[in-house]
Amino acid sequence: MKQLQKVDPEVFVAVCGERKRQEEHLELIASENFASEAVLEAAGSVLTNKYAEGYPGHRYYGGCEFVDEVEQLARDRALQLFKAEHANVQPHSGTQANLAVYGAVLRPGDKILTMSLVEGGHLTHGHSKNASGMLYAVTHYGTDPASGFIDYAALEQLAQRERPRLVTVGASAHPRTIDFERVAHIAHRNGALVLADIAHIAGLVATGLHPSPVPYCDFVTSTTHKTLRGPRGGIILCKKEFAKAVDGSVFPGNQGGPLMHIIAAKAVCFHEALQPSFRTYQELVLRNAHALANSLRRNGFHLVSGGTDNHLVLIDLRKNLPEMDGLRAQRLLESAHISTNRNTVPGETRSSFATSGLRLGTPALSSRAMGEKEMERIGDWIGEILTAPIPEGNISAVRDGVLALCRRFPLPYPCYEI
Ligand SMILES: *Cc1c(COP(=O)(O)O)cnc(C)c1O
Repeated sequence: MKQLQKVDPEVFVAVCGERKRQEEHLELIASENFASEAVLEAAGSVLTNKYAEGYPGHRYYGGCEFVDEVEQLARDRALQLFKAEHANVQPHSGTQANLAVYGAVLRPGDKILTMSLVEGGHLTHGHSKNASGMLYAVTHYGTDPASGFIDYAALEQLAQRERPRLVTVGASAHPRTIDFERVAHIAHRNGALVLADIAHIAGLVATGLHPSPVPYCDFVTSTTHKTLRGPRGGIILCKKEFAKAVDGSVFPGNQGGPLMHIIAAKAVCFHEALQPSFRTYQELVLRNAHALANSLRRNGFHLVSGGTDNHLVLIDLRKNLPEMDGLRAQRLLESAHISTNRNTVPGETRSSFATSGLRLGTPALSSRAMGEKEMERIGDWIGEILTAPIPEGNISAVRDGVLALCRRFPLPYPCYEI
């Protein structure tokens, strides 16, 4: 960072501020993580200078011999990690990956059947303000209000009635195991293709701790920066028969030149995820999510679906704190250096800005090597703030505890000195 400090002190100081924020906050945002230094080095490498439109062996630019090696490594490792037939590692993000799959098999006006954002899905699953909702005719399935689990029977009825071209399954805020095999059978029985979006749970899928959709689904998309702990980016896995359509939809359909430095960092991420230590890490993520869920329940919180099978929990604040919305809860915790995000819950009664829920995940803190004891303490701290008659009164005491805990579990990065 020496050059950055010299050339652009303003950006340097902001980066230092962010470095310190990450060190001194408890990161419970379920979609965030801490990439390794090896990943950061690849992402910050000279590969950022290279144009490489096309694919390995078929580029529209000269000088691609080394970036070809990098992209081939990334593809081969993705195939090995997820046991897939074809991989495209170029999508700039999870959003780009989903839009590229849609572009590969749908025409504007085609029907898609998806889970809505409010129920735990994602913007790219047909939200009216996203291209997916503008281009395609969307029907939403959701969760069973009693159990909080995906309502597969209702999904099947909708598939029979609507006969969509594509069914998407996968979530940003769903705490339970998803039965991809069942959804794929429902889709295929009703003449639809199926896309599984494992953006959140990719690390669990890669290590066999969540059932993989790869054997059953025509397309699987993911981000590489959530539980997978790599650089920000996306990937698409698909059956051989769709390889050409997917590749053409990514480039030239939806993107120009690939980000070769990020593809190098994805290759490093896949390499790390293939090591036995990565499974140990994902096991800790799961144990920690359980411990956090138990602690929150002991503190009187109601969890959507009653608990968790994966890396996240979703608190429905309406049950024990009817006056507290997600926005206020998020802000109160933030002032105690506990980072979470407000989230809609199934059957949401507030706006998507205020919300009635709070989403918490354990991937980032598990990367700092925190364990179940720490999760129990964090659940108590969340209770001490949110359930107090005057929440503001407890913030400073909790913040002191948080800072002490952060010091005991330092981030795995060198410090930048201002
Ligand atoms: C995060 C997420 C995405 C999109 O990822 P971006 O990289 O932010 O575009 C897509 N689908 C799901 C289910 C996600 O959780």
